[in-house]
Formats: sequence, C-alpha cells, structure tokens
Amino acid sequence: MARVPVKLVSWDEIVEWSRGLARKIEESSWIPDLVVAVSRGGFVPARLICDFMDINDLLAVQSQHWVEAALAAERAILKYPYIVDVKDKKILVVDDIVDTGDTLELAKTFIEREWKPSEVKTAALQWISSVAKFRPDYYYIEVKDWTWFQYPWTRLEDVSQFIMRIFREDDRVKGRSIDEAYLKDLFKEWFGVEPGQFGFYWSEALNRLVIKGFLTKEDGLYRCIKCGSR
Ligand code: ADP
Repeated sequence: MARVPVKLVSWDEIVEWSRGLARKIEESSWIPDLVVAVSRGGFVPARLICDFMDINDLLAVQSQHWVEAALAAERAILKYPYIVDVKDKKILVVDDIVDTGDTLELAKTFIEREWKPSEVKTAALQWISSVAKFRPDYYYIEVKDWTWFQYPWTRLEDVSQFIMRIFREDDRVKGRSIDEAYLKDLFKEWFGVEPGQFGFYWSEALNRLVIKGFLTKEDGLYRCIKCGSR
C-alpha cells in the first residue's frame, strides 16, 4: 500500500468528466448566466463547462490557504476579494475537487454576500464525500476513499512536491545522497505510481528542484540541502 494514494488523471479524463458535469447541470434545467472558476484548480474545468454549456462569461476568484498561527490550522481565504456588478445573474462556481470543502464554501459565501447575484450554485468534477463538510450542488464523481488526484495542470508542481516529501520525511534518505534509481523506487513505494508514467515531468521536476536550490546533484547523486540531517 502506498503511503499517499495518488491517481494520475489524464487530459482525456478531464474532458470526459467536465462534459459529464455539464450534462448533469443541463439535466437539472438550471442554466447559469456566468461561470466563476475557483483559481487555480477550477480554471480548466470551468473553461470546459463554458464550452460544453455554451456560456460566454467566465470570471475567477483566487483562494489561498493561510496557516493561523494561534490555531496551527489552515484556513481558506480569498486573495483578491474584488467586487463586480452581477446582480440578477445566476452564477455557477466551479472547482476541480471538493476535499475539505472550505474553498468552495468560502467562494460561494463571498459571492452571495458581496456580489449579490440572483442565485449561486456550486459544481466540482469530484467530491470526496468521506471528508468534505460541504456538498456541491453538482459533482461528476463521488470519491469515497481519500486519494490525491494528480491533475494534468499541476504535474510539475506535484511531482516536485512528492520528491521533496520523500527527502524530508523518509528516514532512509535524510541527510544522504541517493541516486535516481533509488529515488524512483522510493517514489513508487510512497505514491503507488511509477515515475515513468509522468514522462518528461519527472526530469523537469528534478531540474527545477536543483535550480531552486532544494536539491544538489553531484556525480549523479541527489541530496537535499534544506531537509536537515540525521
Ligand atoms: P476544498 O476546500 O474545496 O476542499 P481544499 O481547500 O482542500 O479544497 O483544496 C484546495 C485545492 O487544492 C483544490 O481545489 C484542489 O485544486 C487541491 N486539492 C485539494 N485536495 C485535493 C485532492 N485530494 N486531489 C487533488 N487536488 C486536491
């Protein structure tokens, strides 16, 4: 069993899921006037929904997670809480996934309170029903067992973070220099997916981590310089 269950999502699946989500919305006979993407994860699904539902107007609000020092808990906030005149409009707020549910709930509440449209509904490609405290009005896939869905628009970011997680948290690696073959074995063990499945993203991620100064590469061996030593 992988320590972190990861499912690689293809571009084709994203198109299929977005189309399925658009169909569900249409079947409910509710047609939005305006789509609002929750940036950044909701951008691609929101754009595809506009295409499938023939909607012209697409805006975005950006969410961000803040760690509240006193509580050591994460809280979602809107980074640019701008106001627009959308009264009398029906708004569909779209995100990729509802995990905790904080983000979509926050976006919905903000839009209702500050933009005062006639109606706001929410949609996500996926809804993790076992952990979410918020259920979107529309979703395409209900997920029961928590999984990290590796969406195509965050490949480089995710692979880089997965690699760093191994360097930071795996006792077999801390403070050591390791070769790429061993790193690949650990990656498979941790995340349950073969690095080969990520194609060029694997080497791009390693290069990025070296360029950003998180890893060094010497004689073919990688070492983390920001992970502390044993
Ligand atoms: P929400 O508040 O909607 O549950 P979170 O605040 O937990 O979502 O996460 C915000 C963003 O982080 C999501 O829109 C998504 O882009 C990403 N994310 C969260 N959980 C997952 C997951 N299990 N798989 C892939 N991406 C995720």
